[in-house]
Amino acid sequence: MIKSLREYIKEAEEKKVAIGHFNISDSLGFWAVVNASKKLNLPVIIGVSEGERDFIGVKQIKALVDTLKADGLPVFLNADHTYSVEKIKEVVDAGFDAAIIDGAELSFEENLKMTKESVAYKNSTNPEMIIEAELGFIGKSSKIWDEVPTGAASSDAVLTKKEEASEFVKETGVDLFAPAVGNIHGMAKNLKVNFEKLNIERIRVLREATGVPLVLHGGSGITDEEFKLAIGAGISIIHINTEIRLAYKQGLQRSFSDSPDEIAPYKFLKPARDGMQAVVEKRLALFNNL
Ligand SMILES: [Zn+2]
Repeated sequence: MIKSLREYIKEAEEKKVAIGHFNISDSLGFWAVVNASKKLNLPVIIGVSEGERDFIGVKQIKALVDTLKADGLPVFLNADHTYSVEKIKEVVDAGFDAAIIDGAELSFEENLKMTKESVAYKNSTNPEMIIEAELGFIGKSSKIWDEVPTGAASSDAVLTKKEEASEFVKETGVDLFAPAVGNIHGMAKNLKVNFEKLNIERIRVLREATGVPLVLHGGSGITDEEFKLAIGAGISIIHINTEIRLAYKQGLQRSFSDSPDEIAPYKFLKPARDGMQAVVEKRLALFNNL
């Protein structure tokens, strides 16, 4: 029997490391993450957003992950950004390990209400499951931005506030909390690092105020040094998506230009899978001090 995701998160916090959360759209991404996890012997979380899980299938991805758990591999499944209680119910019923109810664009009260409803349903159906909530806006899409989306920046006005975070977590009873601490979904075009700098002190304050482990979204493009500081300050899970999407596309482009006559999908898709795996391995090594 593998340990529960809850136990792995607790362990990560004690060891001052972070668990990698990687988004996938299909079986190619699935194997990229799983192979990296096996190779480095580390737990991983596979993330599927509403769009991604509609594409791969809610029950189908759950079944795939279950086959790994049956083999003793610590691979967990998270319903990434979920925007309604209805969609939360679907993944609770399907038996996901975790889900994020994302009301970050709603008012504080509406976000609170939707999150409370999600936690209540989870508690009545699958109490072991982990629910994460988000407070503070960090942009919506994992893509390459031309400019910073309005509303997401590192100015004090948009960072998650200590008092609100503490009240929100206490009222809702969520297990994990995703704050806005200067992070943003996606990556900047032609830039190696993200547009914003993480506010490490705010991470420390929010971890203390909420009493729950924190999750860093929008990890693509953040510098290695900032990641290490963020983990030390209270981040226990880090989401990577855009870098994987980019590696997928670049792998395909390379494949088509290098072998234009190849028609066997398992051959022309391999560079894409391997490219994604390399990204995941690199991130896992960094998050776990390897
Ligand atoms: Zn996210």
